Amino acid sequence: MCGIVGFAMEENVTEHLIKGLEKLEYRGYDSAGIAVEKDGEISAVKTAGRISALKEKLKYENVSSHVGIAHTRWATHGEPNEKNAHPILSENKKIAVVHNGIIENADEIKKELISMGVEFETDTDTEVISQLLMINYDGSLLSAVIKTVKKLKGAFAFAAVCSDSPGEIAAARYLSPLTAVKFNSGAGIASDISALGEYSDEFIYLDDSEIAVINSDEVKIYSFSGEEKEKTPQRADADLNSDGRDGYEHFMLKEIYEQPEAVKKTIDAYYKNGEINFGFDEKFIEKLKNSDRVYFTACGSAYHAGAAAELFFEKILKIPCRAVIASEMRYSFTPLDKKTLVIAISQSGETADTLASLKNAKESGCATLSIVNVKDSYIAKTGESVIYTRAGREIAVATTKGYTTQLTALYMLGIYLAKIKNSAPDKELGEYENELFSLADMIKSTVSLSGYISRRAPFTAFEKDVFFIGRGVDFTCALEGSLKLKEITYIHSECLPAGELKHGTISLIERGTKVFAVAMNKRLADKTANGINEIKARGAYVICFTTEKLRDKFPLADEVVILEETNEFFAPAVTAPALQLWAYYSARTKGCDIDKPKNLAKSVTVE
Ligand code: GLU
Repeated sequence: MCGIVGFAMEENVTEHLIKGLEKLEYRGYDSAGIAVEKDGEISAVKTAGRISALKEKLKYENVSSHVGIAHTRWATHGEPNEKNAHPILSENKKIAVVHNGIIENADEIKKELISMGVEFETDTDTEVISQLLMINYDGSLLSAVIKTVKKLKGAFAFAAVCSDSPGEIAAARYLSPLTAVKFNSGAGIASDISALGEYSDEFIYLDDSEIAVINSDEVKIYSFSGEEKEKTPQRADADLNSDGRDGYEHFMLKEIYEQPEAVKKTIDAYYKNGEINFGFDEKFIEKLKNSDRVYFTACGSAYHAGAAAELFFEKILKIPCRAVIASEMRYSFTPLDKKTLVIAISQSGETADTLASLKNAKESGCATLSIVNVKDSYIAKTGESVIYTRAGREIAVATTKGYTTQLTALYMLGIYLAKIKNSAPDKELGEYENELFSLADMIKSTVSLSGYISRRAPFTAFEKDVFFIGRGVDFTCALEGSLKLKEITYIHSECLPAGELKHGTISLIERGTKVFAVAMNKRLADKTANGINEIKARGAYVICFTTEKLRDKFPLADEVVILEETNEFFAPAVTAPALQLWAYYSARTKGCDIDKPKNLAKSVTVE
C-alpha cells in the first residue's frame, strides 16, 4: 500500500533508491528500508520512522551496489518497528523482498513452511513471500516468482532481489500497482510512477498477474504462467517532476489554493457547447435512463462527497439514492440489479474496498460508473464508464481538491441524469447550472479567508475533543470538516446531525467545549439554531460557518465565519476550503506533520 522502488543501473543505485522513496513519501508510511545485492550477498538497512532516519543510518553502512530495492511500509501485519520494516529477508538471507498489500493466506502458508522447518523472523505477512521464493528458487528468480505467486491469495505488488541471481530484480503485481521503466543507464520498477519520473516519460504499466524482470540492460514482462509478453511503454499524462510546493509551506495549503482552478477544469472538461457531455455510449445512457436506484460507494472524504450527492440526487431524480461506506457495502446484502446505478468514488482509483464493491455491483449486472482522479487507475478501468475529475496530482495525504472536484463531478452528473430522465423542471436544473458556473469563484472567495482563519484556528489547536454539527447537506459538510481536523491535528472530533445531539451526545458538552456548526442551509437554519441554542445553554463555545443573510439566526454563536450564499446542495464545496484551512492552521500551530499525518496512507489499497 505504500512505496516500492527498485533499480538496476550501471552506477551505484543507493542514492537513486532513496530519492525514489522520497518521491513516494507523500503517501504516508511508518518505516522504511533498502536492500542491495552485491558480490553474492544481500545487505539491508531498515528503520522505523522516516526516510530521513534511514538516510542517517546509511551514512554509517557501506551499502553500494548496481542493483537494489527499497520500501516505505504502512504496516498491516506486525508493529511498525525496524524488524518488520521491509525489505524482508528469507531465512538463508539470500533473498530480499519489498511488498505492498496483504497476503490473505499468510497464516496458512506460514504454518506449512514452519512444518517444513523454515524459521520466521518477522511478524509480517510479507515474510511468506521471501520464504516461498527461497524454497522455490532453483537458479532462476523468474521461475521462483512464478511458483510463489501461485500460492498467494490477496493483493500484492512485490519486488525481490536474490544474491544468487546477481544484477536482477523480479517483481509481480496482483491488485496493487506496479510500473517498470527502461532508461539509458539502467532500468527501474516502482509502485507509483512519481518515483520514476526523473528517468523517462514513458512507462510500462504492469497489469494484474504480470511479472517484470529487470536488469540494467532490459525490462522483460511475463504472465504468471511464464509466457513472455510484448508491452509498449506508455506516456504519463501528468508532469511528474512538477511536485514542488511552489513556495507554499505545505502541499496541503497549495492544494487548498488550487481548488478554484481544479473545479473550473473539471467543469470545463464536461461542458461541450453549453451541454453536459460525459462521452457515455448509447447503451450506458439507456441503462442510466432505466435506473431506479442509485448507490454511491466510497471511503473517507469520497464517501462524504457521495453523502452530499445523495441528497441532491434524491431531490432532482426523485428515486432512492444512498451513499454507502465501501468497506461495509462489499459485505452487505444491499439489493443490486440491472436497474441499480452504482457510482464508485475514489481520488486514487486504487481504494481496495471501493474497488471490491464496484466489482460486486458489476457482477450483479448494475450500471457502474467510476468517479476518479487518477487516469487509467484500477477503479477507472473497472467501472463501465468513468468520469475523471481534474484535480491534478494531489500530494498531501489529507484530500482537499480531490474532494471538491468529486463534488463538482457529482453535481454535474446529477444535473445530467435529471435531464436524461426528465425528472426535474428545466428551470430548476438551469438554476443549478448557473450556480455551477459560479462555483469556482465562490470557492475562491472561501479560500481568500485564509488569513482570517490562520489567526482564529490556533485558538482550537490544543483541544482534546471537539464536535461538528449540521443539518441536511450541511451535516455532510460537517462530516468532512470533522474528518479533516482529525486527520491532521489528531484532535478527537465527533460529528453529528444537529437534531441528534439531545439523544445522547449533549451529555458531553460542558463549559468551553468547542463546537463547529455548519449552517448554510436556509431551509433548515432555524433547526440548526435550535441545536446551537441547546449546546450554548450547556456552556459550549460555538464557531458557526454561515452566510451573511443567515447570520442573524445565530446570535448565540461565539464566532461566525461568513461564506458565500449558494443553493443548499452546493454548500459542501463552498464550505470545504474554510474547514480545511481551519484544520490546516490548527495542525500548523501544533507542529504536526501536515502532509504526512501519522498512521495514514494516501491511497488505501488494502482492505
Ligand atoms: N502487509 C505488509 C506489511 O504489513 C505490507 C504493508 C504495505 O503495503 O506497506 O508488512
